[in-house]
Amino acid sequence: MKQAIYSKIDNNMFFKNISPSKSDCCGCSACEQICRNHAITMQEDEEGFLYPIVDSLLCIECSACEKVCPMLHSDSVKNRIEDTKAYAAINRNEETLQQSSSGGIFSAISISILEKGGVVYGAAFDNNLQLYHIGVEDIRSLNKLRGSKYLQSQNRNVYSEIKEQLKAGRWVYYTGTGCQVAGLKCFLRRPYSTLITSDLICHGTPSHKVFDFIVSQMEHKYKGKVIKYSFRDKSINGWSCNSSSSNIQRKDGIKHIGYDPVMNSYFNAFISNAMNRKTCYHCPFATVERTGDITLADYWGVKKYHAINNNYNGVSAILVNTENGEKLLDEIKEKITIIKTNIEWIADENKNLTEKTTQPISRDTFYQKLSNNPTALMNSFQRNKLKSYTIYHIKRICKHNACLFGILMKIRDLLCK
Ligand SMILES: Cc1cc2nc3c(=O)[nH]c(=O)nc-3n(C[C@H](O)[C@H](O)[C@H](O)COP(=O)(O)OP(=O)(O)OC[C@H]3O[C@@H](n4cnc5c(N)ncnc54)[C@H](O)[C@@H]3O)c2cc1C
Ligand code: SF4
Ligand code: SF4
Ligand code: SF4
Repeated sequence: MKQAIYSKIDNNMFFKNISPSKSDCCGCSACEQICRNHAITMQEDEEGFLYPIVDSLLCIECSACEKVCPMLHSDSVKNRIEDTKAYAAINRNEETLQQSSSGGIFSAISISILEKGGVVYGAAFDNNLQLYHIGVEDIRSLNKLRGSKYLQSQNRNVYSEIKEQLKAGRWVYYTGTGCQVAGLKCFLRRPYSTLITSDLICHGTPSHKVFDFIVSQMEHKYKGKVIKYSFRDKSINGWSCNSSSSNIQRKDGIKHIGYDPVMNSYFNAFISNAMNRKTCYHCPFATVERTGDITLADYWGVKKYHAINNNYNGVSAILVNTENGEKLLDEIKEKITIIKTNIEWIADENKNLTEKTTQPISRDTFYQKLSNNPTALMNSFQRNKLKSYTIYHIKRICKHNACLFGILMKIRDLLCK
């Protein structure tokens, strides 16, 4: 008999505490990976999110799954705020900075781990643009992990893989959302001196279903296969969260699309908060007590507090939360520009550091509408088509005219003050 863990009834003593509702399961898969009897499988619900399903015939009621659930033990994996230090940071390598979403600190840490013969884990698209966590062992492959992908990444069996690497004495760097890092720490159940983790300040994660639809719309429109999708392409707008681009393989070659209302509708839907996993509206990790050794984020509004000459290609906010994190930061100091800052200043324009994303009423019907009439739903997010298109082209013209661009940046800075 198969049952979803999150809906197990209260009189089942082994599961009465584990994720009683969908809002309490972040989909990390720690429970699936810990179960020696293979009684748990992560299965997709109608919205496209993964949830654990237990096969009662295989379950021996050992409660191991309950012990590793980060939603039940969220407090035990958070670091102490007293140990946290906050910085603004920028990778000094211009090319790497350009390819990263914020200040490129993920890459600086990763290279340090790879140089020690370690493995770096993060979210990467496969050839069909499905998002999974994978491990990479060479600097060239880091490109697959770089860049924010605004949908939920599947962990599959990486926690088990990481445990094996750590037991063999290797360095491991794992990056992911706060709940994914919490899942790893719960799964491991003991600290390892060769493990470094980075959690992200997190707005929430939609399911792959919406993104799949956007990709199919782009393929239909441009008559080809989307082979690359970037949510934050700095060659368009510089450091901005609204700058999607894609490469489409067509019969006549590869076409690069730098702005398109279809891609724009995904971003608008993302920031409307209507398509997050239900857990995200109750996220226990939206707090200054972080799960990772080093928290990575965008330092929006950095110029209000620091005299940074050029923030066009991005500035990271980083929180160094542990001694391990501090040691690692020391190792990469030559590769980055770093300035001490305040957590309050980071939180000023980055609400998700301390606040959960609010669930809008539109969340109730979003995925139902996606099933019934996805085109109508996503078209409704193509707001201000003409305005967005005009702004995109003005920015492109300005970018190629350094003088005009300089004047506009000055005006923007004055308005920010
Ligand atoms: C879904 C999501 C929501 C975010 N929300 C915010 C926010 O509200 N405020 C904020 O300041 N920053 C947010 N970020 C973080 C920010 O976008 C940057 O990822 C972060 O600052 C690191 O930038 P970087 O330049 O150092 O590294 P980059 O080179 O950009 O590397 C990105 C890192 O993020 C990981 N990653 C990418 N996509 C995912 C994913 N879907 N799931 C798990 N890990 C992923 C990669 O593995 C890599 O380690 C969010 C990121 C994601 C993925
Ligand atoms: S109680 Fe034990 S056997 Fe049953 S699903 Fe959980 S981990 Fe597997
Ligand atoms: S361990 Fe992860 S996947 Fe399993 S019930 Fe808990 S949150 Fe959900
Ligand atoms: S908002 Fe919280 S629960 Fe949702 S993906 Fe981010 S860390 Fe996980």
